[in-house]
Amino acid sequence: MTYKEMYALAVKNLAPKEHHAGFSSGAVSAVLEGANGKYYCGVNIDLYCGLGFCAERSAAAAMVTDGETVIRRVVCVGEDGALMTPCGACREFLSLLSPENENAEFLVDAAGEKTVKLREFLPHPWNEEK
Ligand SMILES: [Zn+2]
Repeated sequence: MTYKEMYALAVKNLAPKEHHAGFSSGAVSAVLEGANGKYYCGVNIDLYCGLGFCAERSAAAAMVTDGETVIRRVVCVGEDGALMTPCGACREFLSLLSPENENAEFLVDAAGEKTVKLREFLPHPWNEEK
C-alpha cells in the first residue's frame, strides 16, 4: 500500500461519534503497517473519566493481537483529514513494543510524502543504553 492509499484508508475509517455524554470515538484514525506486511487500523476512544486511548495505540493493539510488534509505517489523521503526529504517550508506547520501532516512519506531509522516524520524535528515551 502506498502512503496515499494508507492515508485514504485512515480517512475512510474516520467516524466521529458521541455515543453518549461520556463516550466519544472515531475523531482520529490511524493505519499502521506491520513488519509482516499487514495493515492495522484503529480509532481514538475517549471516555469522560479521562480513560481512553489514541488511534495509534488502538491500531497497535490490533497488530499485537495478530502477533506482530514491529511497525514499518504509520499514517494518522484527525477528523478534518489533517495528518497528526503521535502524542508523547503513543511515542513511548510504540517504542516499547519493539526496539526496531525506532525506525517506524510517520507520514507528516501527504503532498510531499515527507516522513519522520519514531526515534526523531523520541530522541532520548529513558531506557536507552548509556
Ligand atoms: Zn497518542
